[in-house]
Amino acid sequence: MRTNLSVEEALALVLAEAKGELGVEELPLWEAYGRVLAEDLASLVDHPDQDDTAIDGYACREGDTLGASPETPVRLRVIGEAPAGRPFAGRVGEKEAVAVYTGAPIPQGANAVVRVEDTRREGEYVLLFAPASPKDIRPKGDDLRRGEVYLSRGDLLTPGRLGLAAAMGYPRLKVFRRPRVGILSTGDEVVEPGEALPFGGVYNSNAYSLLGLVLEAGGEPVLLGKVPDRPEEVLARLERAGPLDLLLTSGGVSMGAYDVVRRVLEERGEVVFWKVKQQPGGPLLLARLGELPVLGLPGNPVSSMVTFFLYGRPFLFRLQERTDPPYRPLKAKALTPFKGAKGKKVFRRGVLAFEEGLVVRTTGNQSSGVLRSMAFGNALVVLPPDQDAQAGAEVEADLTAIPHRAPGSAGRRGG
Ligand code: AMP
Ligand code: MG
Repeated sequence: MRTNLSVEEALALVLAEAKGELGVEELPLWEAYGRVLAEDLASLVDHPDQDDTAIDGYACREGDTLGASPETPVRLRVIGEAPAGRPFAGRVGEKEAVAVYTGAPIPQGANAVVRVEDTRREGEYVLLFAPASPKDIRPKGDDLRRGEVYLSRGDLLTPGRLGLAAAMGYPRLKVFRRPRVGILSTGDEVVEPGEALPFGGVYNSNAYSLLGLVLEAGGEPVLLGKVPDRPEEVLARLERAGPLDLLLTSGGVSMGAYDVVRRVLEERGEVVFWKVKQQPGGPLLLARLGELPVLGLPGNPVSSMVTFFLYGRPFLFRLQERTDPPYRPLKAKALTPFKGAKGKKVFRRGVLAFEEGLVVRTTGNQSSGVLRSMAFGNALVVLPPDQDAQAGAEVEADLTAIPHRAPGSAGRRGG
Protein backbone atom coordinates (compact mmCIF):
# COMPACT_ATOMS: atom_id res chain seq x y z
CA MET A 1 0.00 0.00 0.00
CA ARG A 2 1.24 3.46 -0.83
CA THR A 3 0.61 6.41 1.40
CA ASN A 4 0.95 10.20 1.57
CA LEU A 5 0.65 10.68 -2.17
CA SER A 6 0.44 13.94 -4.03
CA VAL A 7 -2.92 14.74 -5.65
CA GLU A 8 -1.42 14.04 -9.07
CA GLU A 9 -0.03 10.65 -8.03
CA ALA A 10 -3.34 9.70 -6.45
CA LEU A 11 -5.31 10.70 -9.55
CA ALA A 12 -3.05 8.63 -11.79
CA LEU A 13 -3.62 5.55 -9.60
CA VAL A 14 -7.38 6.11 -9.54
CA LEU A 15 -7.52 6.44 -13.33
CA ALA A 16 -5.45 3.29 -13.72
CA GLU A 17 -8.33 1.40 -12.05
CA ALA A 18 -10.84 2.64 -14.65
CA LYS A 19 -10.28 -0.26 -17.00
CA GLY A 20 -13.63 -2.05 -16.83
CA GLU A 21 -15.69 -2.33 -20.01
CA LEU A 22 -19.06 -0.66 -19.65
CA GLY A 23 -20.55 -2.14 -22.77
CA VAL A 24 -22.79 -0.37 -25.22
CA GLU A 25 -26.54 -0.03 -25.50
CA GLU A 26 -28.70 1.39 -28.25
CA LEU A 27 -31.25 4.01 -27.24
CA PRO A 28 -33.89 6.01 -29.06
CA LEU A 29 -33.01 9.70 -29.31
CA TRP A 30 -35.41 10.73 -26.58
CA GLU A 31 -33.58 8.60 -24.03
CA ALA A 32 -30.06 9.52 -25.06
CA TYR A 33 -29.67 13.01 -23.60
CA GLY A 34 -26.71 13.21 -21.21
CA ARG A 35 -25.26 9.90 -22.39
CA VAL A 36 -21.90 9.37 -24.09
CA LEU A 37 -21.76 8.29 -27.73
CA ALA A 38 -20.10 4.94 -28.37
CA GLU A 39 -19.91 5.33 -32.16
CA ASP A 40 -18.84 7.86 -34.77
CA LEU A 41 -21.78 9.35 -36.64
CA ALA A 42 -21.49 10.39 -40.27
CA SER A 43 -24.35 12.41 -41.65
CA LEU A 44 -26.88 10.34 -43.59
CA VAL A 45 -27.99 13.42 -45.53
CA ASP A 46 -26.96 16.75 -46.95
CA HIS A 47 -28.58 19.65 -45.16
CA PRO A 48 -30.00 21.52 -46.83
CA ASP A 49 -30.47 18.71 -49.34
CA GLN A 50 -30.50 21.33 -52.12
CA ASP A 51 -30.07 25.10 -52.37
CA ASP A 52 -32.86 26.64 -50.31
CA THR A 53 -33.98 30.03 -49.10
CA ALA A 54 -33.12 31.35 -45.65
CA ILE A 55 -35.89 33.98 -45.81
CA ASP A 56 -39.50 34.51 -46.84
CA GLY A 57 -39.63 36.42 -50.11
CA TYR A 58 -39.57 36.00 -53.88
CA ALA A 59 -37.11 33.89 -55.85
CA CYS A 60 -36.25 35.30 -59.27
CA ARG A 61 -33.35 36.09 -61.60
CA GLU A 62 -30.95 38.57 -60.07
CA GLY A 63 -30.35 40.26 -63.45
CA ASP A 64 -34.05 41.21 -63.69
CA THR A 65 -33.92 43.19 -60.44
CA LEU A 66 -30.76 45.32 -60.70
CA GLY A 67 -31.41 48.91 -59.66
CA ALA A 68 -34.73 48.17 -57.94
CA SER A 69 -35.43 50.84 -55.28
CA PRO A 70 -38.41 52.49 -53.58
CA GLU A 71 -38.36 55.17 -56.31
CA THR A 72 -37.77 52.78 -59.20
CA PRO A 73 -39.46 49.49 -58.27
CA VAL A 74 -39.16 46.47 -60.54
CA ARG A 75 -42.32 44.54 -61.44
CA LEU A 76 -42.24 40.74 -61.77
CA ARG A 77 -45.03 38.26 -62.58
CA VAL A 78 -45.69 35.74 -59.79
CA ILE A 79 -46.00 32.28 -61.36
CA GLY A 80 -46.41 30.22 -58.21
CA GLU A 81 -45.31 29.57 -54.68
CA ALA A 82 -43.03 27.18 -52.77
CA PRO A 83 -43.69 26.69 -49.07
CA ALA A 84 -41.07 24.66 -47.12
CA GLY A 85 -41.41 21.01 -48.07
CA ARG A 86 -43.38 21.75 -51.27
CA PRO A 87 -40.93 22.62 -54.05
CA PHE A 88 -42.16 24.61 -57.06
CA ALA A 89 -42.37 22.25 -60.03
CA GLY A 90 -41.88 24.75 -62.88
CA ARG A 91 -39.09 27.01 -63.97
CA VAL A 92 -38.60 30.73 -63.34
CA GLY A 93 -38.16 32.67 -66.57
CA GLU A 94 -37.40 36.28 -67.44
CA LYS A 95 -39.32 38.84 -65.34
CA GLU A 96 -40.89 36.06 -63.30
CA ALA A 97 -40.89 35.27 -59.57
CA VAL A 98 -42.00 32.51 -57.20
CA ALA A 99 -43.12 33.29 -53.65
CA VAL A 100 -40.80 31.27 -51.39
CA TYR A 101 -40.83 30.60 -47.66
CA THR A 102 -37.87 29.83 -45.37
CA GLY A 103 -36.55 26.34 -46.04
CA ALA A 104 -38.10 26.00 -49.50
CA PRO A 105 -35.83 24.82 -52.34
CA ILE A 106 -34.87 27.57 -54.79
CA PRO A 107 -36.96 26.97 -57.93
CA GLN A 108 -35.16 26.13 -61.15
CA GLY A 109 -34.17 29.17 -63.14
CA ALA A 110 -33.97 31.45 -60.09
CA ASN A 111 -30.63 32.52 -58.63
CA ALA A 112 -31.61 35.17 -56.07
CA VAL A 113 -34.20 36.03 -53.44
CA VAL A 114 -35.66 39.37 -52.34
CA ARG A 115 -37.06 39.68 -48.81
CA VAL A 116 -40.81 39.98 -48.55
CA GLU A 117 -40.33 43.22 -46.54
CA ASP A 118 -38.86 44.83 -49.68
CA THR A 119 -41.86 43.95 -51.85
CA ARG A 120 -45.55 44.70 -52.37
CA ARG A 121 -47.88 42.15 -53.88
CA GLU A 122 -50.29 43.45 -56.50
CA GLY A 123 -52.44 40.54 -57.59
CA GLU A 124 -50.58 38.54 -60.20
CA TYR A 125 -47.54 40.81 -59.89
CA VAL A 126 -45.05 41.79 -57.20
CA LEU A 127 -43.23 45.12 -56.91
CA LEU A 128 -39.61 44.90 -55.75
CA PHE A 129 -38.19 47.93 -53.91
CA ALA A 130 -34.73 46.37 -53.63
CA PRO A 131 -32.72 44.04 -55.86
CA ALA A 132 -32.88 40.29 -55.23
CA SER A 133 -29.62 38.81 -53.99
CA PRO A 134 -28.05 35.35 -53.78
CA LYS A 135 -26.82 35.98 -50.22
CA ASP A 136 -29.95 34.55 -48.62
CA ILE A 137 -29.66 31.28 -50.51
CA ARG A 138 -28.26 28.49 -48.34
CA PRO A 139 -26.22 26.25 -50.61
CA LYS A 140 -26.80 22.50 -50.55
CA GLY A 141 -24.73 20.95 -47.71
CA ASP A 142 -24.17 24.34 -46.05
CA ASP A 143 -24.95 22.82 -42.65
CA LEU A 144 -24.26 19.09 -43.09
CA ARG A 145 -22.56 17.09 -45.82
CA ARG A 146 -23.59 13.50 -46.35
CA GLY A 147 -20.85 11.09 -45.21
CA GLU A 148 -19.00 13.58 -43.08
CA VAL A 149 -18.46 12.62 -39.40
CA TYR A 150 -19.80 15.32 -37.09
CA LEU A 151 -20.15 13.38 -33.83
CA SER A 152 -17.58 10.99 -32.41
CA ARG A 153 -17.28 8.19 -29.91
CA GLY A 154 -16.71 9.78 -26.51
CA ASP A 155 -18.84 12.88 -27.17
CA LEU A 156 -21.26 13.76 -24.40
CA LEU A 157 -24.76 14.15 -25.85
CA THR A 158 -25.59 17.75 -25.01
CA PRO A 159 -28.83 19.33 -26.25
CA GLY A 160 -27.11 20.67 -29.37
CA ARG A 161 -25.50 17.32 -30.18
CA LEU A 162 -28.70 15.38 -29.61
CA GLY A 163 -30.37 17.72 -32.10
CA LEU A 164 -27.43 17.29 -34.47
CA ALA A 165 -27.76 13.49 -34.35
CA ALA A 166 -31.42 13.87 -35.29
CA ALA A 167 -30.57 16.34 -38.09
CA MET A 168 -28.14 13.77 -39.48
CA GLY A 169 -30.97 11.24 -39.67
CA TYR A 170 -30.29 8.89 -36.74
CA PRO A 171 -33.33 7.64 -34.80
CA ARG A 172 -31.28 5.53 -32.36
CA LEU A 173 -27.81 5.98 -30.92
CA LYS A 174 -25.23 3.60 -29.52
CA VAL A 175 -24.16 4.93 -26.14
CA PHE A 176 -22.13 3.58 -23.26
CA ARG A 177 -24.02 1.95 -20.43
CA ARG A 178 -24.10 4.24 -17.42
CA PRO A 179 -21.57 3.12 -14.81
CA ARG A 180 -23.28 1.76 -11.68
CA VAL A 181 -21.89 3.44 -8.61
CA GLY A 182 -22.64 2.05 -5.16
CA ILE A 183 -22.89 4.62 -2.36
CA LEU A 184 -22.45 3.30 1.17
CA SER A 185 -22.37 5.52 4.26
CA THR A 186 -20.72 4.27 7.40
CA GLY A 187 -20.82 5.51 10.97
CA ASP A 188 -22.62 4.58 14.17
CA GLU A 189 -23.73 8.20 14.46
CA VAL A 190 -25.23 8.44 10.97
CA VAL A 191 -29.03 8.57 10.82
CA GLU A 192 -31.39 8.81 7.84
CA PRO A 193 -33.30 12.09 7.46
CA GLY A 194 -36.81 11.58 8.82
CA GLU A 195 -35.57 9.55 11.77
CA ALA A 196 -35.22 11.19 15.16
CA LEU A 197 -31.71 12.50 15.65
CA PRO A 198 -30.13 10.92 18.74
CA PHE A 199 -27.67 12.80 20.91
CA GLY A 200 -24.43 13.01 18.90
CA GLY A 201 -26.14 11.85 15.71
CA VAL A 202 -25.80 13.35 12.25
CA TYR A 203 -28.08 13.03 9.25
CA ASN A 204 -26.73 11.08 6.31
CA SER A 205 -26.05 13.95 3.95
CA ASN A 206 -23.20 12.27 2.10
CA ALA A 207 -25.42 9.72 0.40
CA TYR A 208 -27.41 12.48 -1.26
CA SER A 209 -24.65 14.88 -2.21
CA LEU A 210 -22.80 11.93 -3.71
CA LEU A 211 -25.94 10.79 -5.51
CA GLY A 212 -26.11 14.19 -7.19
CA LEU A 213 -22.44 14.16 -8.09
CA VAL A 214 -22.70 10.67 -9.55
CA LEU A 215 -25.67 11.70 -11.70
CA GLU A 216 -23.82 14.78 -12.89
CA ALA A 217 -20.88 12.62 -13.90
CA GLY A 218 -23.14 10.33 -15.93
CA GLY A 219 -23.30 7.46 -13.45
CA GLU A 220 -26.23 5.49 -12.09
CA PRO A 221 -26.25 5.78 -8.30
CA VAL A 222 -27.01 2.60 -6.36
CA LEU A 223 -27.95 3.64 -2.84
CA LEU A 224 -26.66 1.08 -0.36
CA GLY A 225 -27.82 2.97 2.74
CA LYS A 226 -25.78 3.28 5.89
CA VAL A 227 -24.09 0.76 8.12
CA PRO A 228 -22.72 1.05 11.64
CA ASP A 229 -18.99 0.86 12.30
CA ARG A 230 -18.87 -2.95 12.35
CA PRO A 231 -16.90 -4.95 9.77
CA GLU A 232 -19.46 -7.75 9.45
CA GLU A 233 -22.21 -5.24 8.68
CA VAL A 234 -20.14 -3.49 6.04
CA LEU A 235 -19.32 -6.81 4.39
CA ALA A 236 -22.87 -8.09 4.58
CA ARG A 237 -24.19 -4.96 2.88
CA LEU A 238 -21.60 -5.14 0.12
CA GLU A 239 -22.38 -8.76 -0.60
CA ARG A 240 -25.96 -7.76 -1.42
CA ALA A 241 -25.00 -4.75 -3.55
CA GLY A 242 -25.30 -6.40 -6.97
CA PRO A 243 -23.01 -5.58 -9.90
CA LEU A 244 -21.15 -2.27 -9.60
CA ASP A 245 -18.51 -0.44 -11.61
CA LEU A 246 -17.36 1.64 -8.65
CA LEU A 247 -18.06 1.61 -4.95
CA LEU A 248 -18.04 4.82 -2.94
CA THR A 249 -17.93 4.55 0.81
CA SER A 250 -18.05 7.53 3.10
CA GLY A 251 -16.50 7.65 6.55
CA GLY A 252 -14.31 5.21 8.37
CA VAL A 253 -11.01 5.83 6.60
CA SER A 254 -9.20 7.90 9.24
CA MET A 255 -6.84 6.88 12.02
CA GLY A 256 -9.46 6.07 14.64
CA ALA A 257 -10.17 2.70 16.23
CA TYR A 258 -13.63 2.73 14.62
CA ASP A 259 -12.43 3.38 11.09
CA VAL A 260 -14.00 0.24 9.85
CA VAL A 261 -13.89 0.75 6.10
CA ARG A 262 -10.13 0.87 6.04
CA ARG A 263 -9.91 -2.29 8.14
CA VAL A 264 -12.39 -4.21 6.03
CA LEU A 265 -10.63 -3.25 2.82
CA GLU A 266 -7.22 -4.09 4.25
CA GLU A 267 -8.42 -7.53 5.36
CA ARG A 268 -10.76 -8.49 2.53
CA GLY A 269 -9.48 -6.46 -0.39
CA GLU A 270 -6.36 -4.75 -1.51
CA VAL A 271 -5.62 -1.17 -0.55
CA VAL A 272 -3.84 0.68 -3.37
CA PHE A 273 -3.23 3.86 -1.44
CA TRP A 274 -4.34 5.63 1.68
CA LYS A 275 -3.89 9.33 2.42
CA VAL A 276 -3.25 12.12 -0.01
CA LYS A 277 -1.41 15.35 0.77
CA GLN A 278 -4.47 17.51 0.36
CA GLN A 279 -7.06 19.40 2.37
CA PRO A 280 -9.90 18.65 2.66
CA GLY A 281 -10.00 14.94 1.92
CA GLY A 282 -6.59 13.84 3.22
CA PRO A 283 -7.65 10.35 4.44
CA LEU A 284 -8.88 9.27 0.97
CA LEU A 285 -8.38 5.58 0.27
CA LEU A 286 -8.32 3.61 -2.99
CA ALA A 287 -8.81 -0.14 -2.88
CA ARG A 288 -9.95 -3.16 -4.84
CA LEU A 289 -12.49 -5.58 -3.53
CA GLY A 290 -12.10 -8.47 -5.93
CA GLU A 291 -12.38 -6.67 -9.28
CA LEU A 292 -14.36 -3.75 -7.89
CA PRO A 293 -12.56 -0.41 -7.49
CA VAL A 294 -13.45 1.25 -4.19
CA LEU A 295 -13.00 4.90 -3.32
CA GLY A 296 -13.06 5.24 0.45
CA LEU A 297 -14.12 8.86 0.89
CA PRO A 298 -13.64 10.62 4.21
CA GLY A 299 -16.87 11.15 6.13
CA ASN A 300 -16.81 14.91 6.47
CA PRO A 301 -19.45 16.22 4.09
CA VAL A 302 -17.13 18.64 2.29
CA SER A 303 -14.31 16.09 2.13
CA SER A 304 -16.48 13.42 0.55
CA MET A 305 -17.77 15.82 -2.11
CA VAL A 306 -14.37 17.32 -2.90
CA THR A 307 -12.68 13.92 -3.16
CA PHE A 308 -15.45 12.60 -5.38
CA PHE A 309 -15.10 15.65 -7.60
CA LEU A 310 -11.33 15.30 -7.82
CA TYR A 311 -11.10 11.52 -8.27
CA GLY A 312 -14.52 9.89 -8.73
CA ARG A 313 -15.63 12.20 -11.50
CA PRO A 314 -12.52 11.68 -13.67
CA PHE A 315 -12.82 7.94 -13.00
CA LEU A 316 -16.38 7.89 -14.34
CA PHE A 317 -15.42 10.04 -17.33
CA ARG A 318 -12.64 7.59 -18.17
CA LEU A 319 -14.95 4.56 -17.86
CA GLN A 320 -17.44 6.22 -20.22
CA GLU A 321 -14.56 7.14 -22.56
CA ARG A 322 -15.68 10.75 -22.38
CA THR A 323 -13.35 13.00 -24.29
CA ASP A 324 -14.24 16.29 -22.58
CA PRO A 325 -12.18 17.09 -19.47
CA PRO A 326 -13.78 16.29 -16.09
CA TYR A 327 -12.86 19.69 -14.76
CA ARG A 328 -11.49 22.88 -16.13
CA PRO A 329 -9.03 25.06 -14.27
CA LEU A 330 -9.81 28.76 -14.67
CA LYS A 331 -7.77 31.74 -13.54
CA ALA A 332 -9.56 34.23 -11.33
CA LYS A 333 -8.69 37.17 -9.14
CA ALA A 334 -9.17 36.41 -5.44
CA LEU A 335 -11.27 39.13 -3.82
CA THR A 336 -10.80 37.60 -0.36
CA PRO A 337 -7.75 35.87 1.09
CA PHE A 338 -7.58 32.06 0.87
CA LYS A 339 -5.53 30.09 3.34
CA GLY A 340 -3.18 27.32 2.21
CA ALA A 341 -1.68 24.50 4.27
CA LYS A 342 1.77 23.21 5.01
CA GLY A 343 2.76 20.38 2.68
CA LYS A 344 -0.75 19.98 1.27
CA LYS A 345 -2.61 21.04 -1.82
CA VAL A 346 -5.69 22.90 -0.65
CA PHE A 347 -9.15 23.17 -2.17
CA ARG A 348 -11.09 26.09 -0.71
CA ARG A 349 -14.67 26.72 -1.61
CA GLY A 350 -15.43 29.92 -3.42
CA VAL A 351 -18.01 31.78 -5.43
CA LEU A 352 -16.75 32.49 -8.92
CA ALA A 353 -18.31 35.37 -10.83
CA PHE A 354 -17.64 37.49 -13.87
CA GLU A 355 -17.18 41.13 -12.90
CA GLU A 356 -14.82 42.83 -15.33
CA GLY A 357 -12.98 39.51 -15.47
CA LEU A 358 -13.27 36.38 -13.37
CA VAL A 359 -13.24 36.97 -9.63
CA VAL A 360 -13.65 34.59 -6.71
CA ARG A 361 -14.70 35.13 -3.11
CA THR A 362 -14.65 32.72 -0.19
CA THR A 363 -17.92 31.07 0.82
CA GLY A 364 -17.07 31.82 4.46
CA ASN A 365 -16.44 29.11 7.05
CA GLN A 366 -14.07 26.65 5.40
CA SER A 367 -14.35 23.80 7.90
CA SER A 368 -14.82 20.46 6.14
CA GLY A 369 -17.94 19.89 8.21
CA VAL A 370 -19.67 22.95 6.75
CA LEU A 371 -21.66 21.65 3.81
CA ARG A 372 -23.07 25.08 3.02
CA SER A 373 -19.73 25.89 1.41
CA MET A 374 -20.50 23.24 -1.23
CA ALA A 375 -24.18 24.13 -1.42
CA PHE A 376 -23.55 27.79 -2.24
CA GLY A 377 -20.05 27.78 -3.64
CA ASN A 378 -19.55 27.07 -7.32
CA ALA A 379 -15.79 26.65 -7.48
CA LEU A 380 -12.83 25.10 -5.76
CA VAL A 381 -9.95 27.51 -5.26
CA VAL A 382 -6.79 25.47 -5.66
CA LEU A 383 -3.74 26.45 -3.61
CA PRO A 384 -0.42 24.68 -4.11
CA PRO A 385 1.26 23.29 -0.96
CA ASP A 386 2.57 25.92 1.46
CA GLN A 387 0.88 28.81 -0.34
CA ASP A 388 -1.70 31.31 0.88
CA ALA A 389 -3.43 33.63 -1.55
CA GLN A 390 -3.83 37.28 -0.61
CA ALA A 391 -6.76 39.36 -1.80
CA GLY A 392 -5.89 40.58 -5.28
CA ALA A 393 -3.80 37.51 -6.18
CA GLU A 394 -4.52 35.42 -9.24
CA VAL A 395 -5.65 31.92 -8.25
CA GLU A 396 -6.74 28.73 -9.97
CA ALA A 397 -10.47 28.07 -9.58
CA ASP A 398 -12.24 24.95 -10.84
CA LEU A 399 -15.95 25.24 -11.50
CA THR A 400 -17.87 22.65 -9.52
CA ALA A 401 -21.44 23.56 -10.37
CA ILE A 402 -21.66 21.65 -13.61
CA PRO A 403 -25.23 20.43 -14.02
CA HIS A 404 -24.62 18.27 -17.07
CA ARG A 405 -27.67 16.15 -16.78
CA ALA A 406 -30.95 16.14 -14.97
CA PRO A 407 -31.69 13.11 -12.82
CA GLY A 408 -33.74 10.63 -14.83
CA SER A 409 -32.70 12.24 -18.07
CA ALA A 410 -34.69 9.93 -20.28
CA GLY A 411 -37.56 11.69 -21.99
CA ARG A 412 -41.02 10.25 -22.47
CA ARG A 413 -43.09 9.96 -25.59
CA GLY A 414 -46.36 11.72 -25.10
CA GLY A 415 -49.57 11.37 -27.12
P1 AMP B 1 -15.22 9.83 9.64
O1 AMP B 1 -14.57 10.03 8.30
O2 AMP B 1 -15.96 8.56 9.75
O3 AMP B 1 -14.20 10.01 10.73
O4 AMP B 1 -16.25 11.01 9.82
C1 AMP B 1 -15.84 12.35 9.83
C2 AMP B 1 -17.00 13.25 10.15
O5 AMP B 1 -17.97 13.17 9.11
C3 AMP B 1 -17.73 12.94 11.43
O6 AMP B 1 -18.07 14.14 12.07
C4 AMP B 1 -18.96 12.22 10.96
O7 AMP B 1 -20.03 12.35 11.85
C5 AMP B 1 -19.25 12.90 9.65
N1 AMP B 1 -19.96 11.98 8.75
C6 AMP B 1 -19.61 10.71 8.47
N2 AMP B 1 -20.47 10.14 7.62
C7 AMP B 1 -21.39 11.07 7.33
C8 AMP B 1 -22.54 11.10 6.48
N3 AMP B 1 -22.90 10.03 5.77
N4 AMP B 1 -23.25 12.24 6.39
C9 AMP B 1 -22.88 13.33 7.10
N5 AMP B 1 -21.81 13.37 7.91
C10 AMP B 1 -21.06 12.26 8.03
MG1 MG C 1 -16.85 7.44 11.23
